[in-house]
Amino acid sequence: MTYTERSGCGTLTLSDTDRTVQLAGWVDALRDHGDVVFIHMRDRSGIMQVVFSPEFMPPEDRRRADTLRVEFCICVTGRVVKRKKDTENPNIETGAIEVIADTLTILNKSRALPFSISEKAMVAGAAVGGTEAVGEDLRLKYRYLDLRRPSMQGNIIKRHKINKGVRDYLDQQEFIEVETPMLTKSTPEGARDYLVPSRVHSKKFYALPQSPQLFKQLLMVSGLERYYQLARCFRDEDLRPNRQPEFTQLDLEASFIDEEFLYRITEELIVRMFAVGGIALSAPFPRMTWQEAVDTTGSDSPDIRFGLRLVEVTDILRSTSYGILQQVIKRGGIIKGINIKGQSDKLSKNVLQNEYAKKVIPSFGAKGMTWMRMTSGRLESNIVQFFSEEEQQAIIQRLGAEDGDVLVMIADASHARVNRVLGMLRLHMAERLDLIPHDVYSPVWITDFPLFEVHGKTVTSTHHPFTAPDRTDFDPSDRKALAELKSRAYDIVINGEELGGGSIRIDNIDVQHKIFQALGLGEEEIKDKFGFFLRALRYGAPPHGGLAIGMDRVISMILGTPSIRDVIAFPKNRSASCPLTEAPSPVSDKQLAEAGLLEAVGVGWVDGKKVVKFTS
Ligand code: ASP
Repeated sequence: MTYTERSGCGTLTLSDTDRTVQLAGWVDALRDHGDVVFIHMRDRSGIMQVVFSPEFMPPEDRRRADTLRVEFCICVTGRVVKRKKDTENPNIETGAIEVIADTLTILNKSRALPFSISEKAMVAGAAVGGTEAVGEDLRLKYRYLDLRRPSMQGNIIKRHKINKGVRDYLDQQEFIEVETPMLTKSTPEGARDYLVPSRVHSKKFYALPQSPQLFKQLLMVSGLERYYQLARCFRDEDLRPNRQPEFTQLDLEASFIDEEFLYRITEELIVRMFAVGGIALSAPFPRMTWQEAVDTTGSDSPDIRFGLRLVEVTDILRSTSYGILQQVIKRGGIIKGINIKGQSDKLSKNVLQNEYAKKVIPSFGAKGMTWMRMTSGRLESNIVQFFSEEEQQAIIQRLGAEDGDVLVMIADASHARVNRVLGMLRLHMAERLDLIPHDVYSPVWITDFPLFEVHGKTVTSTHHPFTAPDRTDFDPSDRKALAELKSRAYDIVINGEELGGGSIRIDNIDVQHKIFQALGLGEEEIKDKFGFFLRALRYGAPPHGGLAIGMDRVISMILGTPSIRDVIAFPKNRSASCPLTEAPSPVSDKQLAEAGLLEAVGVGWVDGKKVVKFTS
């Protein structure tokens, strides 16, 4: 069989009427009318109705049509005809025409399906089987069938288009695509490494890259100036619903540039990517410092599609007679509030007191919540009497309270806790009260992050240790000074999801060395882990910086899929395993021994068979 004459099922139109065509694809659905059998035939381009009638085909081919079942792979030749008026099908794009078959070849049969694939009804108004109710593991086990569904194919094809747009744009901007190693040494991005044992170097391991971070920086030392890669990254992290152990980043790096260059390139890229999904974004994107984000939204990846901003009122209540608040202020704590505008009738006293103050807020990690509502120009609640008239007026002013508003306040000695809990409440309320506009995409850059997270004696990098600090005159052993350092890092956040981030890097060996010291690494460890990288910094490294964007997440957001797994051809499930191949799976003792993970200690006999015995 040759397919040189083949037409796409979805590409034929009324203008093809009377043409003889060859179609090859799958049986999407069937309808048997006795003499005549109708099918929907599907290929990547779409669906075509094919009619098998004894009038137009040899009896042998017609009989073969009786044996067809869904998902048989077939080839048909026939004539394109216009459908009669009342038999048109608006469910499919080719619904005005059909193909009257004159030959039918069954290329391969299909077993009965584990779930239905068809997404289009043959008759207008009829129901189609969907996969909504199908367990995801079953879909993943038969991923090749799941991917036959036009909606899933659409996701994979759109992903290709987004990737192509990225490549075209970066090529225009003179970025060079370079592949960096998969079998490598650990690059710290804050997760555990996936390790690969080496057979030829017994008891030694490669690490799969958490990101190409060090290689892309080395490419800058090489003078490549502008690099990018759609890079696979591997992070052995705790399971979360929308996390994959391996994922794809658009990773880029450039030399002799500053933050503004990277903002421009990234904004342009993101605008183009979203345009593939028909979403118009406009650049430049707004920017917020990390401090401002945390102070006003309680989050370093703020959703700015709605208000409910956090407002501090500690100063107003500094001499309050309300004991609990007095205590908090005395202990150096803060009081912050949110004005839930115009929602008074949806948040009854009972809901605020018994649901939020008693249950929701404690589940977020704070002791309690103070609430008030604004009615006839006055604050009302069970604690208002503790506030003086002046304090009440100042709160009303600060939070912009009007009739119908509900004010909630959290007080705690820990500033971070107040922000975190109010941040969670902000999102919770926005969802409950349906305050988040749908189909709106609000990007924002977050800048000026703290360089380090300092908890007691442990110092860790907020991003990674190659991020440039805002100043270099710090003492690496002074933890207080370290906690105050800011970084030249930036994250790009859309609708509260961190989609990427990067930084201007350290290009000076002394500064890089000091950062490693600040992180508590000893000289031996520095040499052992990063010696190769520090050596490169001795050979005239250029100033450079870059960023990476999580492509699975971005594409999932653009296409509006419920899960990132819907935009990955062969994802792992929620427990990081692959129902299709059953990876990860045990390996034989022989393979473990070859990898140097077991030692053969002797030969024995079991049931008359010679077996090698191993020990770890
Ligand atoms: N390597 C970083 C990451 O994976 C991104 C960057 O700094 O360019 O998050």
